[in-house]
Amino acid sequence: MSEDQVMELAGRVALVTGASRGIGKAVALKLAGLGAKVAVNYVAIEANNKVDADNVVESIIRLGKEAMVVEADVRDSEAVRAMVEQVTDKWGKIDILVNNAGINRDTLLLRMSDEAWDDVINTNLRGAYLCTKFALRSMMRQDWGRIINISSVTGLVGNVGQSNYAASKGGLIAFTKSIAREMGSRNITVNAVAPGFIITGMTDKLPAERKEAILAMIPLRRFGQPEDVAELVAFLASERAGYITGQVITIDGGVFA
Ligand code: NAP
Repeated sequence: MSEDQVMELAGRVALVTGASRGIGKAVALKLAGLGAKVAVNYVAIEANNKVDADNVVESIIRLGKEAMVVEADVRDSEAVRAMVEQVTDKWGKIDILVNNAGINRDTLLLRMSDEAWDDVINTNLRGAYLCTKFALRSMMRQDWGRIINISSVTGLVGNVGQSNYAASKGGLIAFTKSIAREMGSRNITVNAVAPGFIITGMTDKLPAERKEAILAMIPLRRFGQPEDVAELVAFLASERAGYITGQVITIDGGVFA
């Protein structure tokens, strides 16, 4: 990393959804490492989630950087409004929004419950819609903003047993392109990142033989790490990516090259 990149996000305020673990946690740590103040979002569904989010904030503070925990279920309009207000009350603005919070409820379409469909669409797509809508107000006031949506290769090519997840991630790509067009004149860039197989709690639960079959398809011969995705997100959040908008960047070790 060149010297001028070391603190290239100094003065920026970032909100990362679903930052208590996995990719969101790596993104929060990376953005903070580059100097941004980071709001670490989590949702209070499981008892240990607050501990995880608190640990991320403590790690950032130990680096000598600023961070805060913001609890909100991204599916809930009022909770998202309050979360954005909490961040802007404390730090005055939001420059960078990373819509990362996401879930999967995999099953074949004929066995899919309405609940599994709604849960995934509401978290992955409605959540990004709500966070973007509320965070945009601050970005528009300052004519500067970066929105990075964490989609998936599944949103580009589909996958057996993931029709709900694929629809949410494909929808997120179409949403990204639309908001990029709406916000271009305000100097706000909106891009999507489409990871392949990244080692996190989401992928841990797959059976070993399925993981082996996936690994065999990856030209780089390894699974992705959350930090691989965080590097790309940090670039898109930086000044260096100022002429990139409405794009989907795949990060999958070359599977869909
Ligand atoms: P993960 O380890 O399961 O983490 C998911 C995060 O989302 C957690 O922080 C969780 O918070 C949060 N979350 C879930 N529902 C939420 C809600 N309603 N409101 C707020 N936060 C919520 O997953 P991951 O693998 O890091 O995935 C992160 C993103 O990358 C997701 O959008 C996923 O679809 C995408 N992605 C992952 C992969 C992969 O291979 N891992 C590949 C492509 C795309 P709590 O801790 O509070 O539950």
